[in-house]
Amino acid sequence: MTVKENISLRGFNTFKVGGSARFFVEIKNKKDLVEVADFLEVHNLPFLVLGGGSNVLISDDNFPGLVLKISTQGIFWKDSLGKKIEVDVEAGVGWDELVSEVVKKNLFGLENLSGIPGTVGAAPIQNIGAYGAEVKNTIQFVEIFDLKNRQFKKLEMNDCRFGYRDSIFKSSESKNWIITSVSFLLSKEGSLNTSYKDLKNYFSENPNPTLAEVRQAVLEIRGRKFPDLKLYGTAGSFFKNPIITSEKFEELQKKFGEMPNFPAEDGKVKISAAWILDNVLKVKGKVFNNVSFFQNQPLVVVNLGSATASEIKEVTDKISLLAKKELGLDLEREVRLVGKF
Ligand code: NAP
Repeated sequence: MTVKENISLRGFNTFKVGGSARFFVEIKNKKDLVEVADFLEVHNLPFLVLGGGSNVLISDDNFPGLVLKISTQGIFWKDSLGKKIEVDVEAGVGWDELVSEVVKKNLFGLENLSGIPGTVGAAPIQNIGAYGAEVKNTIQFVEIFDLKNRQFKKLEMNDCRFGYRDSIFKSSESKNWIITSVSFLLSKEGSLNTSYKDLKNYFSENPNPTLAEVRQAVLEIRGRKFPDLKLYGTAGSFFKNPIITSEKFEELQKKFGEMPNFPAEDGKVKISAAWILDNVLKVKGKVFNNVSFFQNQPLVVVNLGSATASEIKEVTDKISLLAKKELGLDLEREVRLVGKF
């Protein structure tokens, strides 16, 4: 294990912002984590874990502790279990590399999650979801390493407290955990879900697409809605879609007219954050100095080149406040703040 010093974090997150890490280590082997635990204890340091850095806003302040970049790369195919097959995947594997491999093997369950940036280890944290699929539906268990007691532990899917873009891995209970691998159960036979509007339109003349065609469609649709990561910084959707009571929904519809809405748990209603940003708050395509709300998908906040983390936070906080004022609505961040703000 090689510990580097004073490493800029800008190259390790897709927003392309952030200060430097006092110490930095790349984890290529699960066993390195025991050494990491020793290092942290001896030097009494805080730590930060980074996967693909695609769902974080990293503070401009230098981080005084150790940053761990998880780069483990193993994909281990297990024996078939009837109509299912298990695959154990190390946390550092790129999410879309896994989806590509799984679709090539003609296995169902991950195709709608094609093209999501980030790593496998990051996927359970916010229970990544797109086009009606959520990663929790394919997870068998998540393996973690606890830096305090230096033990590996497996959490069954039901113990992960998965919710809409949420899990136990976002709670304080998990503050000393590092996700080391995720075990998936994938189906050899399955049905495809093309019910989301854009997919439905894409397949209007092809009612029985193949698994590979669904992946291709998702990649194309996402491609249109995302800025080129080589040119701009972004962490994808910045806010979650609000889930509100039906009374609140009625009130909003009366005031702002018909808006996209979908049934959610407990009789609640999910509304589209993108629609609100576009139609009520009018920020679609708008530029605030170095920060913009992408013209093809306003939920995607973009660093136009030289934005700082605090600038991105300031602009998005203002928009949240505006949502509160105009709609009485809490626009929650999907992106995680990392470090001091
Ligand atoms: P859209 O079709 O413009 O609809 C806006 C929102 O309405 C979606 O985000 C989705 O919420 C919800 N929605 C649409 N059709 C639905 C249905 N049939 N049932 C339930 N909810 C529905 O969506 P979009 O913005 O292009 O996004 C399409 C998918 O890609 C969504 O699932 C979205 O989460 C995902 N996406 C993810 C990111 C990211 O970076 N994480 C960025 C852009 C889009 P849900 O988000 O709850 O599905």
